[in-house]
Amino acid sequence: MDNSGALVELFDTHCHIHEAVRKTTQVYDKWHEKGDVAVEAILADAKQAGVARILCVGTTLADSELAIEFVEKRENLWAAIGIHPHEASDHLERAAQEQFAALVTEKKVVAVGECGLDYFYTHSPKEAQIKILKFQIELALEHDLPLIFHVREAFDDFWPIFESYSGIRGVLHSFTDTLENMRRAINHGLFIGVNGIATFAKDPGQLDAYKAIPLQNLLLETDSPFLTPAPYRGTVCEPKHVLVTAGFLSELREESLDTVAIATTGNAQQLFGV
Ligand SMILES: [Zn+2]
Repeated sequence: MDNSGALVELFDTHCHIHEAVRKTTQVYDKWHEKGDVAVEAILADAKQAGVARILCVGTTLADSELAIEFVEKRENLWAAIGIHPHEASDHLERAAQEQFAALVTEKKVVAVGECGLDYFYTHSPKEAQIKILKFQIELALEHDLPLIFHVREAFDDFWPIFESYSGIRGVLHSFTDTLENMRRAINHGLFIGVNGIATFAKDPGQLDAYKAIPLQNLLLETDSPFLTPAPYRGTVCEPKHVLVTAGFLSELREESLDTVAIATTGNAQQLFGV
């Protein structure tokens, strides 16, 4: 795609690009499996593609600290602190939770997450996932911050927990679920994060859900380095690929690219207050 002269301004509301700088997690391998990574070049390419703002999302205590450090001196980058459901069982000790909670007031932290429930993999026991999800919801509510939710094959447990609190603001990230769960999220005022998965989705029901998301609830993301959109499968996903997903949604939803860009960027700025 020729991105030169891009007029649209996009917001990557969910990526893990901070992990490219240091060997702290398994995700690092994904960044570096094709050789060394030039982080500044990735950021320059994103800018060139119109991706003017980026949110780096933490998945553990250490990873959240890294995200904060990564965005500190970089303009138009922000951090979310989170404990991914996969990592829940490693954060059950009070000391770890206290250390994590202390990060919430760091400059440029604009959300809590990603957090949630993942019963597709169940890398952590369900009980631990639920405990750590509630901990993060309460932390976010206490500081009036939005939440970034990761929910996979776990909505039956997720909704009763969600509905037991009031005042939750946030986004269902990497949405791939049914129209019904999409509508339930919209009724709760949640935003829906769409990434490269949409570009290679085959299930008509899933495509219908992407079509039906109200524009005022739509957010764009990459989940970089994962989920590279078509036709770039096989390469590492980068924030610049938001433009590809935006283009795909613009065609699918029969809205202009500008319409999608202006709405999703505005939505993200409203949710994250940046
Ligand atoms: Zn993620």
